[in-house]
Formats: sequence, structure tokens, C-alpha cells
Amino acid sequence: MKERLYLFDTTLRDGAQTLGVDFSVEDKRVIAERLDALGIDYVEAGYPGANPVDSAFFEAPPRLKAKLTAFGMTKRAGRSTSNDPGFQAVIQAEVPAVCLVGKSWDYHVEVALGISREENLEAIAASVEAVRGAKREPLIDCEHFFDGDKANPAYALACAKTAYEAGARWVVLCDTNGGTLPHEVEAIVAEVVRHIPREHVGIHAHNDTENAVANTLAAVRAGARQVQGTLNGLGERCGNANLTSIIPTLLLKEDYASRFETGVSMAGLRSLTAVSRQFDELLNRQPNRHAPYVGESAFAHKGGIHASAVSKEPRTYEHVPPESVGNARKLLVSNQAGRSNILAELSRIGMEVDKDDPRLGGLLEQVKTREAQGYAYEAAGASFELLARRAFGQVPEFFDVESFRVMVERRHNARGELVTVSDAIVKVRIGGELLINAGEGNGPVHALDQALRRDLGIYQPSIKDLELADFKVRILTGGTDAVTRVLIESRDRMTGQRWFTVGVSPNIVDASFEALIDSIVFKLWSDGVAPAVTSAGGVPV
Ligand SMILES: [Zn+2]
Repeated sequence: MKERLYLFDTTLRDGAQTLGVDFSVEDKRVIAERLDALGIDYVEAGYPGANPVDSAFFEAPPRLKAKLTAFGMTKRAGRSTSNDPGFQAVIQAEVPAVCLVGKSWDYHVEVALGISREENLEAIAASVEAVRGAKREPLIDCEHFFDGDKANPAYALACAKTAYEAGARWVVLCDTNGGTLPHEVEAIVAEVVRHIPREHVGIHAHNDTENAVANTLAAVRAGARQVQGTLNGLGERCGNANLTSIIPTLLLKEDYASRFETGVSMAGLRSLTAVSRQFDELLNRQPNRHAPYVGESAFAHKGGIHASAVSKEPRTYEHVPPESVGNARKLLVSNQAGRSNILAELSRIGMEVDKDDPRLGGLLEQVKTREAQGYAYEAAGASFELLARRAFGQVPEFFDVESFRVMVERRHNARGELVTVSDAIVKVRIGGELLINAGEGNGPVHALDQALRRDLGIYQPSIKDLELADFKVRILTGGTDAVTRVLIESRDRMTGQRWFTVGVSPNIVDASFEALIDSIVFKLWSDGVAPAVTSAGGVPV
């Protein structure tokens, strides 16, 4: 029997502390859903009441299999939990679990809080009880636990024990400053689990000595059974423990793999590379090529003897099979690896293709060329699916955009205010018919979208519920020219279905338009809409 290890993601809370990272409500939803699909047990999404984004998110939380977790602080000393509005906002959020941070370093209790050690213990106990009273699962993050343990081990332990005895499901030991080393973490956790059952102890490590992953593994060896971390190690200063590295290590490496099971299946693990890269795209940052397991270069082999040895016997130069985490081997001498990778992608979207099908090579070439131009298909599943299905002749030509024109005007309005307005005209040919539509918007892309979707003839019923959920622009500088990549997230207002499309061009409006067209075609294709018949009676394919 394997022991269960629980994974707790705090990308949307602790990760949100990162300089330059600003999640929108929509980002939070998408990321929470991706984490849920991966098999994470707890998704900590923010601090209800602390800022407008978190408040809006918790007002309409997504439905997840994972336990969505609200974060807050233990109640203020000197008042009751019911008389602390900030605390109430946290425990009343419509979520199954609440994680509260409590002080466990006597120095911080006295200096930062300015209260007695006893009062702090009371605050921890009363807070845990209030969470239980609100029928939420209580977790306590013991802030500065390791530094506190070094300064005053009896008091740090008293804080942890108080939380456990008051009914905390998890007592999480935090290396808040990130300066503790693996041998220290292992010794301290081993001592804690002599007092608190290991199935109630968690670890939360920061990466200030580049040891957050190692510290997490050391804590698990010593007995911790909940692991906290973030996607791609996002987090303030040097980051949090990187779940993108911890998860494959726990699933693929001894003696973790045979001792523990997590909520992430082997199939889920194969989505890890895609999740990691999509996350970077959402943050508008370049993925780290050298990231363990999921980086572009994690399984790249240079030519010569090394590469030929790898192609004969991969284990000679690879510590795990790249496919196990959804990554691909890169060999400069052969594109076989690319071929098997693309076959796996096709099968994921429900296309069973023979590995010797000549069209496969063409698709592979197209993907490579386009990725070199700046397309990011990991983040734009719908655009990839269209590209793939087109290569196999499965997507009809629904319509043809003959031309578009956009005008941006900055002027003073009747009230003398400076305004910028955009007008667009789009000419579309559907079957034999030419439709000319005009649209107006606050920006060129908005105006184009309005014009394009104003009247798409027979397709109107299928696209009437389509709406743009999010829009991300990235300027890619490669070689001498800069190109713009636009990533659009679309949503079906009725079914809630979401899909991502991408466009690339030196011109931002052009790139947006391309992503917009892909979004509409994907909708028509997935609705199974029949293409318009041309006047000649044939179906243009
Ligand atoms: Zn932290």
C-alpha cells in the first residue's frame, strides 16, 4: 500500500506576490482549472477581501474537483473571530478549505504583532475552531517555522501543536525566508512528526538558497505528507518550491515513486510540459529553456556520438523518458522524436493517424516552420487542432476574407474630450455571396471583431454566443525584425467551453485578426456546421 501525498498549489496566492505578476480574474480561473485537470489536491486562489480581483474571484469560484482554498490570517489578538471583519470575509468564502497564516517565531510575535506568546497561541486555536465552525477544512501555515524553531524550538512546536489540537487538518511548516538547508529541514520535520501525526504535516519552502525542491523532498523523507509549491516555481524573491519539478520527481524517482501516490496520474503527468508553457504564455513571459523536465532543452542532445548513442539507447543520456512529462527529445540528426511527439498530440485531440502517413511529415514541417516564426501552439490548442486537421483535409473552407480595413482616429468629441475611436470594414465571401460589414470599437481589434461577427450569414447562429474572454500581446524580438504574437482566449457564453488561438505578424492588427479568424473557424468546426455551398453547387474544401 502506497502512502498518499497531497499536493497544494499556491501559484495564485503566494505566486501572485511576484514582482511584475498581476493575475486577472480570468487568468485565475484558467490556471485553477488547469491545476485541477492536472490532479492537484488543493488550489489556493487568493485572499478574499484583500483586493478587487480576489474578491471577484471568490464571488463566483470555479467548480473544481480540487479543494479550492481561501487564504487569510489568524484572527487579530484582543478581539473575537466574529468581531474581525477581515477574518470573517475569509472564512465565509464559498470554498471547501481555508488556509490561515499564523506566527510561530517568538521574535515575530513580540516585535511584529506586539502581543504575548500566549495571546498568539490563543489566536491560532480560536481561528482554527472558527474555520471548523464555518464547516471549512482548516489549514495553518506556520510562518517562519524553521527560523522560529532555531530560535525557540519549544515555542515553534507549541504553535504547531496548538493548531493541530484545535483541529487543523494540516499544519504546514513554512521556510518563509527560504534560508534553511535540506539537512536542517529533515532534522526539524523529523522532530515535529514525533508530536504531530505525519499525515497532518505539510511543507512550504522558498527558494532563496536554490534548495526549495530539495527542502521539500527532505521534508517528505522526514514525514511531511503535504507539499506546497507553485507552477514553474513562481514566487517573490527567488520563488517558491517548484511543483513542476517536484511532481515528476515524486512520480518517477525512487524511493518516492514506490512509496507514495499523489492525485496526479501518469496521464496527467504527460500534460505537465503543456501546463508549464501555457502558464508562461499567460504571464507573457518566455519559458525557461533550461527548466528541468519541461524546458525546451531538458532533453536536447547535440550531434555526434552523443546523439547517435541517445537514438540507439535513450537511457544512456536521459534520466527519465521525455514523453513521461509530455516533453520531447530533440536530436539534431533526426526528426523521429518530433514525429512521435506530434503523433501523441494528434491522439490527444482524437485523431488516430498512421505513423507512416506521408501527411504527417508535412504537418511536422509546418509546425516547425511556424514555431520558428513565433507561433506558440502549446498555448493555442484550437489553432493547433485546425492546423493538424487541415493537413488531413478535415476542415472545410467556411468563408474567405477578401479584405479588411481599419481606421483609428484620435479627436476631440462634442464635449471637447480627447477620444480614440476605431472603425473597421470587412469583406467576406461566403459561398457565392459577398458580405460587407462595418464595425466600431474602442480599439482596432475590437472594431474588427465587431465587423466580422456582425453578419456571417448562415453561420450567425453558431457564432452568436462566441465572446472574447482574454487577449494577450507579446512582442517577440528575433533576428533583425520584431514580430507580434497575439493569443486570444474565446468562450461560448452558453456552454462555457473555452479555446485558445494564436496569430503572428509584424503587424499587431494582422496578428489579432488571424487569431480571431481561427477562433471563429474553430467554433464552426467544433459545432459541426456545414459549410456554405458555392453558386456552382460545389463545396469548397
Ligand atoms: Zn510563502
